[in-house]
Amino acid sequence: MQLLDGKVVAARYKEEIAAEVAQIRAEGGKIPHLVAMLVGENGASETYVANKVKSCGELGFESTLLRFPETITEDELLAEVRKVNDNPAMDGLIVQLPLPKHLNPDRVMETIDPRKDVDGFHPINVGRMAKGLPAYISATPQGCLMLLEHYGIETAGKHCVVIGRSQIVGLPMTILMQRNAYPGNCTVTVCHSKTQNLPEITRQADILVAALGRPGFVTADMVKDGAVVLDVGLERVPDPTKKSGFALKGDVRFDEVAPKCSYITPVPGGVGLMTIVSLMKNTLLAARGEVLGI
Ligand code: NAP
Repeated sequence: MQLLDGKVVAARYKEEIAAEVAQIRAEGGKIPHLVAMLVGENGASETYVANKVKSCGELGFESTLLRFPETITEDELLAEVRKVNDNPAMDGLIVQLPLPKHLNPDRVMETIDPRKDVDGFHPINVGRMAKGLPAYISATPQGCLMLLEHYGIETAGKHCVVIGRSQIVGLPMTILMQRNAYPGNCTVTVCHSKTQNLPEITRQADILVAALGRPGFVTADMVKDGAVVLDVGLERVPDPTKKSGFALKGDVRFDEVAPKCSYITPVPGGVGLMTIVSLMKNTLLAARGEVLGI
């Protein structure tokens, strides 16, 4: 078994991105600028956004964190999004999900200028990705692809089973793994909460992507010998031994599943680290203004 080590791969990409930003700076070019919007107070979201802002600093990007109260109306938030759209100094915009219930995430995502949609959630980016056109690809699935690519894992003709069909992880992952490209060219099966005989299906997976948000859901009997396992799950579970009072757990029972795998991501230290790097890569592309060509 070999670890798909997010620390190692993220460090490699960070080095490349930081070098490129240093060169842009030396040439007096446009420094990438990421804007993050955070609505209300949610401990996990605070941590995710803080990590993104920290990464911007490490790589030499500019960043702006805009905080809004839980009580902000949808119209007010959309007006804030439009302000960023219209500001040429700002290259990328992310609105941290989940949003409070009275705000419609689809309306918010559709209001972001697709050229600044570095999370890749706008329908134009999702549609372009599905058509195989240049697009911002959502950060977590792109991070998974970066891991497969870094370790040179063969994907063509393999059976990839994705558990989860969310807009931000499961769905784009299935689209990417079936496209005629590397990584890709898989035969893909999508599983969700209504899937019957799920272990029977997951046992057929050469590549298993667990993205359901149920800590420890995937057990050893659900995994084929020699499978590649990507654990996207990232949930806070109470842990009195930790200073923070919680531990981060994936969807896969690492201890029992890892010995059966050819490759597996740890949690933490796997896909989560790649998600941030992937977002930074998209922001750099946004600053160059080349991705969509529109
Ligand atoms: P989500 O929107 O809640 O979607 C979960 C998906 O899993 C849904 O499609 C759901 O099916 C399916 N599902 C739930 N229970 C199931 C079950 N018992 N059997 C089969 N399928 C089941 O979650 P998400 O936003 O995609 O996130 C999934 C996990 O990834 C979470 O733990 C999240 O924290 C993590 N995540 C990590 C990163 C990272 O950087 N590592 C980034 C994003 C998300 P239905 O469609 O039928 O409801």
